[in-house]
Amino acid sequence: MKTTQATRKVLIARRDSLVQRRVALLDDEQQLLTTREADWEDQAADTSAARVLGALSDSELRELQRIHAALERIERGVYGQCVVCMKRVPTARLRAVPEADRCTTCTSSH
Ligand SMILES: [Zn+2]
Repeated sequence: MKTTQATRKVLIARRDSLVQRRVALLDDEQQLLTTREADWEDQAADTSAARVLGALSDSELRELQRIHAALERIERGVYGQCVVCMKRVPTARLRAVPEADRCTTCTSSH
C-alpha cells in the first residue's frame, strides 16, 4: 500500500532526526553516521548507538519507542489498526500523529 510506504518514510525520517539531534553532542559522530543505514536492531546493539539512546531525554526515548513500534506494526501489516479495540484508526489522526496506536475513542478513555 502506497500510503503505508509514505508513512514508513515519515516515521524513519522522524526517528533519524531525533537520533541525529543527539549525535551532534557525541564525539564519535562519524562512526555513528557510517552505521546510520544499518538496520535499527543492529544499531541498538552497537555501542555508539547505545550512547545516543542514553543521551536522549525520557520524552524523546518514549517518542522513539512509539515510532519504532509503529514501524513494527507496518512490518506486521497491522499499521493503522487500534491496538485496543482493533478498529481502524481514522486517517486524519494518523496523518497528524503517524505513530498513533489507538483510535480517538481509546486514547481519550485512557
Ligand atoms: Zn480503539
